[in-house]
Amino acid sequence: MQEIKNSSEISYIRQACRIVGELLQFLKEKAKAGVTTAWLDEIAENFIHKHGGIPAFKNYNGFPASICTSVNDEVIHGIPGPYRLKEGDILSIDVGVNKEGYFGDAAITVAIGKVSKEKEKLMRVTEEALYAGISMAVHGNHVSDISKAVQKVVESNGFSVVRDYVGHGVGKKLHEEPPIPNFKTPGRGPKLYSGMTIAIEPMVNEGTYEVTVKDDGWTVVTKDGKPSAHFEHSILVREGEPEILTMV
Ligand code: MG
Repeated sequence: MQEIKNSSEISYIRQACRIVGELLQFLKEKAKAGVTTAWLDEIAENFIHKHGGIPAFKNYNGFPASICTSVNDEVIHGIPGPYRLKEGDILSIDVGVNKEGYFGDAAITVAIGKVSKEKEKLMRVTEEALYAGISMAVHGNHVSDISKAVQKVVESNGFSVVRDYVGHGVGKKLHEEPPIPNFKTPGRGPKLYSGMTIAIEPMVNEGTYEVTVKDDGWTVVTKDGKPSAHFEHSILVREGEPEILTMV
């Protein structure tokens, strides 16, 4: 069952989401060729604490870091480590923050230096798909309206949508009901109501939609080794236009 948040809860969620949005902007500036993903994790953790938050991903089901860093064919849930970013990589950075018991969650994919035309297009289409999905997240619509809008943008550009992982409700917990798939599923899904807070997060592959999990038990990679991109915002469903809570 989906949660409708009251205005006091929404203002707390807004605070958590603001930290997420600001942190992603900060990390976008820092993600350059030569730096390690472990260093990005370290400065992210400091940033979150400095802003009065707690890294929501750290120890979540045992996840060992404060952010997820997923490079090239890594789709999501990449663990920060000694890997040094290099020119031509694309890096998905996913961030979750708990501020006073309320949660925000968002992700961006950034280009490290100059990347291939295909990777550039993959990132652009994934972000476009996210905004197409967000535009459907209004009171009275159904979850499937979001899913269809995302899928249409992705597939009309010749890419594929990951099936095994989906968006979700967010706010009083990191992951809440309802699931928000990025592809058509049977039925219309739950109805959307003003006051719902949800994370929409297309994961888009250049090749097959199929993914597999690496031996570390976390990192999701594409089956064909081709690149993947990921963008996410936490949003508030309203009448008319949704509010993008993790946008700064
Ligand atoms: Mg999420």
